[in-house]
Amino acid sequence: MTYNVSPVGFIHSCFKEKFAIPRQPHLAPAARGVLELVAPFDQGDAVQGLEQVSHVWLLFLFHQALEKKPRLKVRPPRLGGNKSMGVFATRATHRPNGIGQSVVKLERVEAARLWISGIDLLDGTPVLDIKPYVPYADIIGTASNSIASAAPEPVPVQWAPPALHQARDHAMRLQEPLVELIEQCLAQDPRPAYQVPTAEREYGAQFWDVDVRWHYPRLGLIRVLEVIPAKQ
Ligand code: SAM
Repeated sequence: MTYNVSPVGFIHSCFKEKFAIPRQPHLAPAARGVLELVAPFDQGDAVQGLEQVSHVWLLFLFHQALEKKPRLKVRPPRLGGNKSMGVFATRATHRPNGIGQSVVKLERVEAARLWISGIDLLDGTPVLDIKPYVPYADIIGTASNSIASAAPEPVPVQWAPPALHQARDHAMRLQEPLVELIEQCLAQDPRPAYQVPTAEREYGAQFWDVDVRWHYPRLGLIRVLEVIPAKQ
């Protein structure tokens, strides 16, 4: 049996590629975006009352990870990428029906746009539904998960002085907390856990319209090398 679903809107995100997006929401509070609603949800009626809510659940499609054949076992990056687990025990992107869910902070509500932060969503992500976060029901004080018991320990992030100047200039131009965004995302150590980088090896990712390059002077330390306009 199949059912059809269609997006209520699409995400405009600071994240233009999958690499370096935090693995869950709120790990990077400076990660911001806009959920642009589509007709018939873009006239204001559908969001009336939402200004009384601080956070919302977004149900969305992992549109860049959809697969025809469902996987039963996955290898979550959180476990180093080399240990397999039942798909339903993880938040892996490769999953039956490709549905993701994130609680995000609602910064501002307009008729056709929700301004959100703390996101872990790729640019262009189709959103299937929006629901208010309800603290009395959604906070479960006794909950436990020994696969992912706490947020990963952040990795210290250092700046090469020119890179920090570049980031501050782009932050002013974009009117976005770019320095914080880069620090918060890189502190999650986006590198696949099985890769042991040499000090010479450089990594890169695009945030908004800039390319950020960094390296690991030693394992457990990140140094940002440059923040330059992304190639179009
Ligand atoms: N909070 C969500 C959940 O639990 O369903 C997402 C968790 S998933 C582990 C987070 C990762 O999904 C991000 O690091 C990013 O690489 C990836 N991602 C985000 N949006 C995506 C999209 N539209 N398509 C494919 N992958 C996406």
